[in-house]
Amino acid sequence: MTTPRPPVSRLAPSPTGELHLGNLRTFLLNWLLARARGWRLLLRIEDLDAPRVRESHSQSILDTLAWLGIDHDGTAARQSDDLEPYRAAMRTLASRGLAYTCALSRAELRRAVAAPHAGDREVPYPEALRPTDPDRFRFDERPVNHRLVVPADEVRIVDGFAGSSVFRPSEEVGDFVIWTKQGVPSYQLAVVVDDARQGVTDVVRGDDLLPSAARQVLLYRALGLDPPRWWHVPLVLGPDGERLAKRHGSTSAESLRRSGVAAERVIGLLGHWLGALPHRSPIDARSLLRRFAPRLDGDSLEHLGIRPVTCTEEDVAWLSACST
Ligand code: GLU
Repeated sequence: MTTPRPPVSRLAPSPTGELHLGNLRTFLLNWLLARARGWRLLLRIEDLDAPRVRESHSQSILDTLAWLGIDHDGTAARQSDDLEPYRAAMRTLASRGLAYTCALSRAELRRAVAAPHAGDREVPYPEALRPTDPDRFRFDERPVNHRLVVPADEVRIVDGFAGSSVFRPSEEVGDFVIWTKQGVPSYQLAVVVDDARQGVTDVVRGDDLLPSAARQVLLYRALGLDPPRWWHVPLVLGPDGERLAKRHGSTSAESLRRSGVAAERVIGLLGHWLGALPHRSPIDARSLLRRFAPRLDGDSLEHLGIRPVTCTEEDVAWLSACST
């Protein structure tokens, strides 16, 4: 008799900047879920966005997670280490008539769909512009974008936090780019290939990526693979009501660590935001896990009521209140 394999999840940071309290809340919840339920938790550095990636950010992400006690299983993987699995997926898609080359620039696309004033807005790539020439349905390693044939189907995402939502990628994005003219897979393709080959069964990440889940489901289907279970976590907002980001400087993990804030304070604030602690109070990750684990059971965690939270100036001041 074979023992069933445990579910697998992953932390997938992009080393394009420092982690902030919003990223940390999602990672902490991913870690709590994994450790409470006996999932394996992998770490994958998503470093294919070459111009924005910095080695120093990779190191600072690893240091921050270790500082907070958010551990992972196995060695960290880097997407840039081996592009062959992505190329293999491209060859499969092209051989199935589901991926094709497209040399249109953004401006040409806007003109072709008569939306020259769309500004920076992404224009959905319409079916009408899909080529008929079989020669275009080949994986071509020369510097050219490749697009996925996106069917007109609705895609329903059933999510452990967000419940059920319906997307129509053919209208929202149309045939989206899956391989870029820089010679690397796009985020959408890379994440699907990696999650599939690493056996990821449960994806926990920010809910800004919920629409991406629908696009990724189309890629899973096109490659004949089963999608994972989804857990999209509402984001943390800055004091200005905008999604927490790098420009909210004082919330970067690196600057908190450098200014002597205790890891237990950061975990205590994040735990309070997750509803695991009635008030902000210092606690280490393992102790938080012991308190929160009983509430992390079930196929849906809608009962936890995890909602967007605002990181207030008082929150940031509390973090530093007892700095060493
Ligand atoms: N690397 C992506 C990010 O940092 C997350 C990708 C994912 O979880 O699917 O936004």
